[in-house]
Amino acid sequence: MIKDASVQRVLEAARIEDVISGYTSLRKRGVTFSGLCPFHQEKTPSFSVNADKGLYYCFGCGAKGDVITFVREMEHLDFVGAVEPHTTGPAEFAQWYHDVPGVNMAFPYTISLADDGHGTFGFSSDAFFPIDGKGFGNEGLAHNFHFTTEVHTTFKYKGGEIFRFTGDDDLWLFINGKLAIDLGGLHPQLSSEVNLDAKAAELGIVKGGTYKMDIFHAERHTEDSNFKVETTIDCFIIG
Ligand SMILES: [Zn+2]
Repeated sequence: MIKDASVQRVLEAARIEDVISGYTSLRKRGVTFSGLCPFHQEKTPSFSVNADKGLYYCFGCGAKGDVITFVREMEHLDFVGAVEPHTTGPAEFAQWYHDVPGVNMAFPYTISLADDGHGTFGFSSDAFFPIDGKGFGNEGLAHNFHFTTEVHTTFKYKGGEIFRFTGDDDLWLFINGKLAIDLGGLHPQLSSEVNLDAKAAELGIVKGGTYKMDIFHAERHTEDSNFKVETTIDCFIIG
């Protein structure tokens, strides 16, 4: 803990980006700096420092505060002797997809799939920011990067369908309540597809049947937000 008042005054006068640069290398992006989070293990940056406001925030683990908080947390970690993730667990994860007062809120949003004329329906955005300025606001960044997306629909399984998702950060696709695509974790843009015929037995689906499709997506980085869906499923049943 910082007890020495003179240390406290020095820190208050210090530039937050200079202090944090002593622990992780930061890259300037406008008024904000980004880098690998010193509080949790990660390979791509989700740690953001707002130099104007003197605040840091990690979109991966939720660590946040000012320069005093930062040093205190780092000292605590040094004292404990280990850098461990400290917010990600089942309870926090459950909050991502449930409305919790003071933590998150829900906004309905329409994702329209466009017909390419060759039997493929798609939605593609390399700047998927559906809640800019909403919720708790953009937190000093150009976009509101801190959101999750849920899609719940039903479709008729005719045979031969493909569903492909491309995006950054987490995505889980469930068909008939079974995990069909698992792109969990922080990562740059990745693709994964499910061939319904190949997975029919595993998913417990039979041609001609109507099944639930549930998509859970989480945006966590403060860089890009890619969200791309391509599918040959031509019959989503609305409602
Ligand atoms: Zn973190």
